[in-house]
Amino acid sequence: MFQGVLTKMQTEFKSPVDYYLVFADSFVHVNSFLEKKVHITRTGSQCLSCSQPNEIFRQGFCKSCFFETPSAGEWIMKPELSKAHLGIEDRDLAYEQKVQLQPHIVYFAVSSGLKVGVTRDTQVPTRWIDQGAHQALPIVEVPNRYLAGITELALKAYFNDKTNWRIMLQNKGEALDLVAERAACIAKLPTEVQPYVVQDPPLSIDFPVARFPEKVKSLNLVKTPEYSGVLTGIKGQYWIFEDDTVWNVRGHEGQVVDLSCS
Ligand SMILES: [Zn+2]
Repeated sequence: MFQGVLTKMQTEFKSPVDYYLVFADSFVHVNSFLEKKVHITRTGSQCLSCSQPNEIFRQGFCKSCFFETPSAGEWIMKPELSKAHLGIEDRDLAYEQKVQLQPHIVYFAVSSGLKVGVTRDTQVPTRWIDQGAHQALPIVEVPNRYLAGITELALKAYFNDKTNWRIMLQNKGEALDLVAERAACIAKLPTEVQPYVVQDPPLSIDFPVARFPEKVKSLNLVKTPEYSGVLTGIKGQYWIFEDDTVWNVRGHEGQVVDLSCS
């Protein structure tokens, strides 16, 4: 039996990807649960910022932490709002300088269809694995989050920036020529990021999935605190079960669970 507060699964880029759930005093190699019956019980919640047993509002944080903690600032979801490069504080300038003033990439990923996204260099390929992308390719590598944000904003006029998670989980994404897509999008980039175009090759990611679901039924442990089922795959931050139930682990950050396998 494993017990603890859920955070997103940690991954190792192997073929297929290795997944781990890390708790305070133990960890689970999730791949070892494949083809086995897994029991999940939600027993409570614990905010990832204040550690209080509060109801989780978003991203593993209780409502007051979500609106106060520097790690949930609006510039996280909207990188173009980053202001640390101007010395302007949002919630905590030292934190924002540390996170925003480092190399970021803008990339293409294919998880459902082609999408554009932003991440820190240090999060490659973790970010792509978390999205369930089977192909990905960097477009530009820029020195801060603001430049990545305005690049993404310019490309959003032409490309999607969301993953359709149902299609991603059903493995219905297409195979695309990402190198050709990158060459074709360069003229659409803001002038100030043109010097930062990279030539890295595309990356393919292989997920441990024996059977993709035909329909997709989403498990919400806040509404239904107990579930048992045979795990048939792991893709992105989702567990896929034999009965077409899918469980978004990242969507349950801050929930406290008991986990076992038989
Ligand atoms: Zn809190």
